[in-house]
Amino acid sequence: MYRERLSRTLPEVRDRVARAAREAGRDPAAVRIVAVTKGHPLEALEAALEAGLTDLGENRVEELEQKVGALGMGAATWHMIGHLQSRKAARAVESSHLIHSVDSVRLAQKISRAAGERGTVAHLLAQVNTSGEDAKSGLAAGEALAAVLEMTELPHLRVEGLMTMAPFVDDQAVLARTFRVLRETLAAARARNPALGAELSMGMTNDLETAVREGSTMVRIGTALFGERPA
Ligand SMILES: *Cc1c(COP(=O)(O)O)cnc(C)c1O
Repeated sequence: MYRERLSRTLPEVRDRVARAAREAGRDPAAVRIVAVTKGHPLEALEAALEAGLTDLGENRVEELEQKVGALGMGAATWHMIGHLQSRKAARAVESSHLIHSVDSVRLAQKISRAAGERGTVAHLLAQVNTSGEDAKSGLAAGEALAAVLEMTELPHLRVEGLMTMAPFVDDQAVLARTFRVLRETLAAARARNPALGAELSMGMTNDLETAVREGSTMVRIGTALFGERPA
């Protein structure tokens, strides 16, 4: 079922990404598709890998661990994209290649320590609440620059860039503004510390075109690839 669905949906998603990239004068290959498999069974992940997707995203540590346990760390590039509690930092370091959702310096410190204890370097993105909505996690836009620069000073870490979630609206201007704030925050931070990476994780099923036009390097796509998540 997932294999058949992806044979239709993956070309559609690739096409949406490519068209938006070209509209903005960008190379479509500069936008990675992270397949968000949360809530879907292992068959979905296996079908995604077969279809040529290499980046898989999960939003809960427990589910990530289960799926990594079943398929192996080497089967994919594993992305932890959901809110992460500090006490689960070490588990996220263990079971992912990139943590998108680092929303405090304290959490980055926990991740740094966990990576140091394992003798590895953790790769992460700082999550910024660019929309200012109370319900969204992430660094407040006003404090993001200082916090991100502080994260880049921690050992055993590489800050690859920034991540945001847009508000759930159709207003293109509002969406574009939230993504632009992320891009400008990254540019300001990189001007201060060029060691900071250039990744912008932004764009989901409903807003990927706007995100790509505003410079996204990673879109996180669930519904458009796999359909509605089972309840
Ligand atoms: C679920 C989720 C997505 C994917 O959302 P879709 O609308 O299904 O594409 C992207 N990012 C995060 C952080 C998510 O939790």
